Amino acid sequence: MKRIIIAIDGTSSTGKSSIARQLAERVGYTYIDTGAMYRAVTLLAMQGGAFSDDGRIDEARLQGLLEKATIQFRANPRTGRAETFLNDENVEQEIRSMQVSSHVSPIAALPFVRKALVTQQQKMGHGGGIVMDGRDIGTTVFPQAEMKIFMTASPEVRARRRFLELQEKGMDTPYEEVLKNVQERDHIDTHRATSPLRKADDALLLDNSNMTMEEEMDVLLRIFQEKTAE
Ligand code: C5P
Repeated sequence: MKRIIIAIDGTSSTGKSSIARQLAERVGYTYIDTGAMYRAVTLLAMQGGAFSDDGRIDEARLQGLLEKATIQFRANPRTGRAETFLNDENVEQEIRSMQVSSHVSPIAALPFVRKALVTQQQKMGHGGGIVMDGRDIGTTVFPQAEMKIFMTASPEVRARRRFLELQEKGMDTPYEEVLKNVQERDHIDTHRATSPLRKADDALLLDNSNMTMEEEMDVLLRIFQEKTAE
């Protein structure tokens, strides 16, 4: 059977990563979380002193750090899940913190950051057999992807999910702060000059505000079967 590219884009905290990972497991594809890569660069900027106290980014400094940095995914032998490594250090937990979430969108808007990560993502997905999730996969990284999904849900539903997810991880962040972060990221992601978040014309819009994961998976598997049978 043909091994296709599956691009899953959408707004923040829509559950893209969870459903993309499950879909990859179900169909035997590799899952690639591109948000984790932008988060890793954000952590690199934070650790490397590329943010000033007023939140401005020292782009020259970050560019220097990025040129020498490595961002990789390695499978955790216990869970089998890919985890994110920045310069050979496992940063999977750290990149999910609210601190990284509140700094990531301005970093992801920088053209040199996008260029470097898009090149790496295109290499990773070369040959197909991947499920890649992000914001610009169907529009910029793989405009030729055979299957494209654009996921969204209301900001309140998304913030509630993210809030519960953070609580489960023992990170106590007020719901209002999570909602504000979701709204701010939506705004920056959709208004940036380079590869703004938008639905590709040929992507299927999936609003999962009132859907269970099983219902979502049924939709995705049906489209997958159609696309691979073509
Ligand atoms: O998917 P996740 O919420 O982890 O992504 C974190 C941030 O990285 C997003 O809010 C967005 O600013 C950025 N991002 C992006 N392009 C991608 C993936 C993520 O700009 N392909």
